[in-house]
Amino acid sequence: MSENTGDLMEKLVALCKRRGFIFQSSEIYGGINGFWDYGPLGVELKRNIKDAWWRDVVLRRDDMVGLDCSIIMNPKVWEASGHVVNFNDPLVDCKKCKARFRADKVFTVIAAEGENVLLSVGAEADDEEHARLAATNAANSKTRRRLEDHAQKLVWTVFRADKAPQGRSNICPLCGGELTDARKFNMMFKTFVGAMEDSSSVAYLRPETAQGIFANYKNVLDTQRIRPPFGIAQIGKSFRNEINPRNFTFRSREFEQMEIEFFCHPSEADKWYAYWRDERYKWYIDLGLKSDKLRLRPHETDELAHYARACADIEYSFPFGVSELEGVANRTDFDLTQHQKFSGKDMNFFDDETKERYIPYVIEPSGGCDRATLAFLCEAYTEDMAPDEKGVMQARTVMKFHPRLAPVKLAVFPLVKKEGMPEVAAGIHNEAKKAGLASFYDEKGAVGRRYRRQDEAGTPFCVTVDGQTLQDQTVTIRDRDSLKQDRIAAAKVVQYVQDALAK
Ligand code: ATP
Repeated sequence: MSENTGDLMEKLVALCKRRGFIFQSSEIYGGINGFWDYGPLGVELKRNIKDAWWRDVVLRRDDMVGLDCSIIMNPKVWEASGHVVNFNDPLVDCKKCKARFRADKVFTVIAAEGENVLLSVGAEADDEEHARLAATNAANSKTRRRLEDHAQKLVWTVFRADKAPQGRSNICPLCGGELTDARKFNMMFKTFVGAMEDSSSVAYLRPETAQGIFANYKNVLDTQRIRPPFGIAQIGKSFRNEINPRNFTFRSREFEQMEIEFFCHPSEADKWYAYWRDERYKWYIDLGLKSDKLRLRPHETDELAHYARACADIEYSFPFGVSELEGVANRTDFDLTQHQKFSGKDMNFFDDETKERYIPYVIEPSGGCDRATLAFLCEAYTEDMAPDEKGVMQARTVMKFHPRLAPVKLAVFPLVKKEGMPEVAAGIHNEAKKAGLASFYDEKGAVGRRYRRQDEAGTPFCVTVDGQTLQDQTVTIRDRDSLKQDRIAAAKVVQYVQDALAK
């Protein structure tokens, strides 16, 4: 991570805390690694993202229905899905400092010039290229200069902790100690159901919402007037005992997913896969992620799960690197076939027009609400200059959310706390609330400071009631991004904001 990007993340984390977007979970007790709480602004932002998703993939379509399943299910579900046996991450420990890492995220980086080793360190990263970068950045300035001066002549060797060549041990990124060999670690959280704590009562917190959809596929088919091609969508919490939660909320142990399982005839699966891949990619752009920061990365054949026919990750260029927001996969008939085998229930669909009986193929767009929220936060974070009341340019921090995602849509201020201005402003504020707009009323302090607070909250519009309002019932409405102030009739404020949100 370069200094600048590290800086940006630090500033964003500080803003999230200062303004009440995201807090560390159980902070008063020192926190707990991998768990986060959404504050008053964060909960609205995340809810707006989930609402936008639900509206676009469920409410606006005729071929999708929703579902809300329990988090704890019969443990057989996880045997059928393969999670009990296969949901493992490779784990390594440092023999010296006892730190624990995901082996596929730890690299040993060696830069040598002939026999002369200039650099030999451990680095935590997503791939070899980033490991090299991290190792170079972490080196002291003298080594760094030598690396740069000798760049042409250097031979770089980079290997992953779970794929180290024979006879080579890995280096701890924290203390330089030796790492153990990689071993498997199941990431499902275990618990017990009922009063007995023995093997017969073991259950799991779901590591994905998808399996609840498969387990209910027959229920939905039998109770709804729907037939393939159709989808089932669900938003809900999932839990993974990640070895190394990191990058703020990006990798947490408790998180929310937005998942679709789209069931179709096997012969149409390739078509629907391409459709959903492109549709989901476009969704992020429509809500404000810039296309030059988004990437659609098809998986290499050797990256594909054994049952998957195709998979693409939608990735975003976070300040800490390019990382996955959502995966879209053609999972074939693997899941339904597995559940048919383990439950003994017939998962076939009988098409009474063609008289064909088949197990549908499934296209799965699987996204994370918290990762989407983090991406929208990163994208929104802007430092620019804006004039204060006296017209002097001052630095400001502004969260440029898409108005639909902004936690607060409108802030209403009386210019001063007298002459009847507070009453008029409160009237506009109440009218906005009644119309379902998240509105914020603020009468304290200099109006410039009130604007700045709303800029940091990402509020797209600020309305100010001033002396002129009392004469002609007009107010100023300030645009967060362009800083343009329009004068409009006080009675038109709600409509003005609603029109902007409908764009
Ligand atoms: P990664 O490789 O980053 O661990 P994954 O490929 O295992 O992710 P999936 O199993 O495909 O992830 O889960 C679907 C989506 O759920 C991801 O794209 C991501 O948005 C979200 N997600 C998965 N794990 C986490 C986590 N630990 N914290 C936050 N979101 C997560």
